[in-house]
Amino acid sequence: MATPVTVVGAGLGGLVLARVLHVHGVPVTVYEAEASATARTQGGLLDIHPWNGQPALEAAGLIEEFRSLVLPGRESYRVLDRAGTVLLDRPDDGTGERPEVPRGALRQMLLDSLPDGIVRWGRKVSGAQALGEGRHELRFTGGATVVTSLLVGADGAWSRIRPLLSAATPEYVGVTSVEYFLFDGDTRHRATAEAVGAGSLFALAPGKGLLVYREAGGTLHTYAQLKAAPDWLAGADGAAVSAQVVAEFDGWAPELTALIADSDTAPVVRPLYTLPVGHRWDRVPGVTLIGDAAHLAPPNGEGANLAMQDGAELGQAIAAHPDDVEAALAEYEQAMFPRAGAEAGGEDIFDLMLGGDAPHSWVAMMNEAEPAS
Ligand SMILES: Cc1cc2nc3c(=O)[nH]c(=O)nc-3n(C[C@H](O)[C@H](O)[C@H](O)COP(=O)(O)OP(=O)(O)OC[C@H]3O[C@@H](n4cnc5c(N)ncnc54)[C@H](O)[C@@H]3O)c2cc1C
Repeated sequence: MATPVTVVGAGLGGLVLARVLHVHGVPVTVYEAEASATARTQGGLLDIHPWNGQPALEAAGLIEEFRSLVLPGRESYRVLDRAGTVLLDRPDDGTGERPEVPRGALRQMLLDSLPDGIVRWGRKVSGAQALGEGRHELRFTGGATVVTSLLVGADGAWSRIRPLLSAATPEYVGVTSVEYFLFDGDTRHRATAEAVGAGSLFALAPGKGLLVYREAGGTLHTYAQLKAAPDWLAGADGAAVSAQVVAEFDGWAPELTALIADSDTAPVVRPLYTLPVGHRWDRVPGVTLIGDAAHLAPPNGEGANLAMQDGAELGQAIAAHPDDVEAALAEYEQAMFPRAGAEAGGEDIFDLMLGGDAPHSWVAMMNEAEPAS
């Protein structure tokens, strides 16, 4: 029988891994810190790429279910300046090459594809230690422990498993993101909904910007991104955060500032961190990492896709070597290290988005990536 796999973290990476293992008949348990699937709202739309995210869902046997979640017409995007002037406006080309799906629905689809009991909710790992010969002991808050012969850290940016493999810690990138929602935009905030358009909007200026996604039912989901010190907004309550963020966008077009000033939800502050580009480790028996735990990068549209690809490829490698854990982990890491390094090592996304030439630097990048037809 294949070695049972212990996964820490039920994000997209850990769940794709669990599903691929399950499909291949490999026993798996996923320990997740959150109390339930609905403990936290799951963020906005994800653009699932044909070269990494979609093949991962194919490997999980869920590509048809995934297609039923795609929101039509959301591949359009536009770029505005702070006055609301449209600098670039690309409609959805209808090819469906980069389908957008709500992250929460994608996670729920993966959860629904697993038998009850595989994901153990409310099990926060507080630490892990090596016991020798590839075995590890996990400790949970509350004091319980489990021992495993095949451990996978899928526990995101602040992984408790990473220290078993590497001394690297995430560093602040100099940008803080603050998240807001406006509901029923088309009826309650028409001018703003029209400014956002049918898909994504980037309203940019040096040092600050609004990234907005039109979700189902006219929901407008905004990430205000600002170059700031890491402790900016630390300890401030919702009202104080909003007052400070609104002040940063003073003088911007009112249909844009409404995205934050009139938010229906309390702001969620996320300082953005990364691991060093090219982060890797020497093989350690019995343990590996996937997704953000392995290669946390600035939000460049690849993180969730890569996490799912890691999960699928590791699951397939384990299934292909049921009696040889080390062969499976080595095969997975050999492919994962270079691809993660290549994705993270490109141009500095924040220079293009929020640098001195914004928004024109972002328009130029978009034109280069996808010349107008
Ligand atoms: C603002 C923003 C926008 C983004 N936009 C995109 C985008 O458009 N497209 C894209 O591809 N990527 C995007 N990303 C990146 C993407 O969100 C991540 O790369 C992706 O979620 C990584 O998946 P993961 O499964 O590795 O980790 P996560 O999604 O972080 O999941 C980790 C899981 O582990 C659990 N966990 C953590 N610690 C413990 C513990 N100690 N014990 C037990 N469980 C634990 C967490 O609760 C969580 O459920 C964005 C990121 C940010 C911050």
